Amino acid sequence: MQKTLEKSITIKGTGLHSGCEVTLTLNPAPENTGIVFKRTDLPLQPEIKALYSNIVDTRNCSCLGDGKGNLVSTIEHLMGALYIKGIDNALIEVDNQELPIMDGSAKVFYDILQDLPLREQKAPRRFLKILKEVCFTDDKGNSVTLKPAEKGLHIKFDIEFPSKIVGHQEFDRDISEDVFVSEIAPCRTFCEKYQVDYLKSIGLIKGGSLENAVVLDGETILNEGGFRVKNECVNHKVLDAIGDLYTSGHQVIGRLEASKTGHFHTNELLKKLFADQNNYEII
Ligand SMILES: [Zn+2]
Repeated sequence: MQKTLEKSITIKGTGLHSGCEVTLTLNPAPENTGIVFKRTDLPLQPEIKALYSNIVDTRNCSCLGDGKGNLVSTIEHLMGALYIKGIDNALIEVDNQELPIMDGSAKVFYDILQDLPLREQKAPRRFLKILKEVCFTDDKGNSVTLKPAEKGLHIKFDIEFPSKIVGHQEFDRDISEDVFVSEIAPCRTFCEKYQVDYLKSIGLIKGGSLENAVVLDGETILNEGGFRVKNECVNHKVLDAIGDLYTSGHQVIGRLEASKTGHFHTNELLKKLFADQNNYEII
């Protein structure tokens, strides 16, 4: 059956780009609502459903838009936590253009959801079952593929970075809540120091700090304490992929194989998948 929250919960944090305090309130929502964001700071309080077809920017995060210039960005880590907790319906109020970055991972969101009572609803949950292999490849040859699977979601992901501290990392697991909690939720966004310096110089990431990202400087990690888990970087990419897959509107029965891809690729893959009804089934 579908699930929603038993009661509302408010989370406060800092916006990565604005550096402002952002208040996020997760509310219960009726059956078949899906995950809907509402900008409470704007006069008309526009609502935007978290669907792949409403993603308007994938450069640094997944950003939703309503086609009228209203945006909600950096949804992917919260979406990952909602996916794994099996929350089908929620109305999420946010008083800023971006969600709070928290510690750059899904850990805070997951821990809050974990403590919340959920309510089983009256409609059955419907899953997205992949029937045919669909692949999106970019002009550099990096690709992401969805394939049929017997049950659940399996993700295989690899990345390759010049810095030896990251190097080649691979993830290849069934996605269960246990795996999510121990290996995926704590994994933070990562970047290079020169990228941070550049983004700060053009007025972005005002809220960025070592409190909400892993920052690499050549062969050095600037965060005290280093990485939180082995292969934190690729595991964070898996978190992003789960959150982005949830913009399909469903839990997925399939296998995702990705090599050096990001938000853009997953979004293009979903567009390609849904463009042909022979590719999938909603069951
Ligand atoms: Zn991310």
